[in-house]
Amino acid sequence: MTARDTVSSAEAMIEADGLTKYYGDFIAIENVSFRVPRGEIVAFLGPNGAGKSTTMKILTGYLAPTSGSARIAGHDMSTDRLAGAERLGYLPENGPLYPDMTPRSLLEFFADARGLSGERKKARIEAVVKQCELGSVIGKAIGKLSKGYRQRVGMAQVLLHEPDVLILDEPTSGLDPNQIREVRETIRRLGQSKTILLSTHILQEVEALADRVILIAEGRVRFDGPPAELRRDGRSLDERFQELTRSA
Ligand code: ADP
Repeated sequence: MTARDTVSSAEAMIEADGLTKYYGDFIAIENVSFRVPRGEIVAFLGPNGAGKSTTMKILTGYLAPTSGSARIAGHDMSTDRLAGAERLGYLPENGPLYPDMTPRSLLEFFADARGLSGERKKARIEAVVKQCELGSVIGKAIGKLSKGYRQRVGMAQVLLHEPDVLILDEPTSGLDPNQIREVRETIRRLGQSKTILLSTHILQEVEALADRVILIAEGRVRFDGPPAELRRDGRSLDERFQELTRSA
């Protein structure tokens, strides 16, 4: 290992190292590697079925890779998952929400599960309710809220334990344009202090939010760099997306 490798691995908050995952004999992702340094907002872009959720589930320790390793803030998510999870907030696609609970009871439940108690628990719930602007719906059943509010409840839950790394699976999917703008605004604000990997199949999301884009298609990384580089040679993002996601 060179000195430079040592430095970059110390700075990396999210690391995928040669990740491969088979479902039965179907290979969903193959040799996926990237590193996200502290403070970056990275869009994980790709068409449906490209392998984004699979990669994110491995990074968050919900799924074991067939081979390769995943690290969050230096913690291997196969062998040291709890330490990694302390640093991580994961919003799965469609969020793990409970329709009969209210945002308040859900946040209390997850605060307890995270081991928060007393004044700290109260302060953290108050902080995320404010951060995600949930005050007006705090006592309503989650199942009765709009998709936009449900997504905000999911974000509030993810932020409870003050993680410094966020992994968000399609955070704007199914929202209307106003809700999309609000969620992007929240992500941008969070990005000032946190490292964020968010998946999307929407090109505009990349332009609107990301410092860097990792494009995946058919389970392989096809591009990793700044959005401006993706658009190079005067071609539109749309044209490059088509070119890079075409079957190999
Ligand atoms: P994305 O999030 O980019 O839409 P996924 O990671 O969900 O992609 O899926 C990648 C590929 O793996 C797809 O072809 C999908 O059908 C397949 N896949 C995902 N989950 C499973 C599973 N549990 N069993 C079998 N195949 C799966």
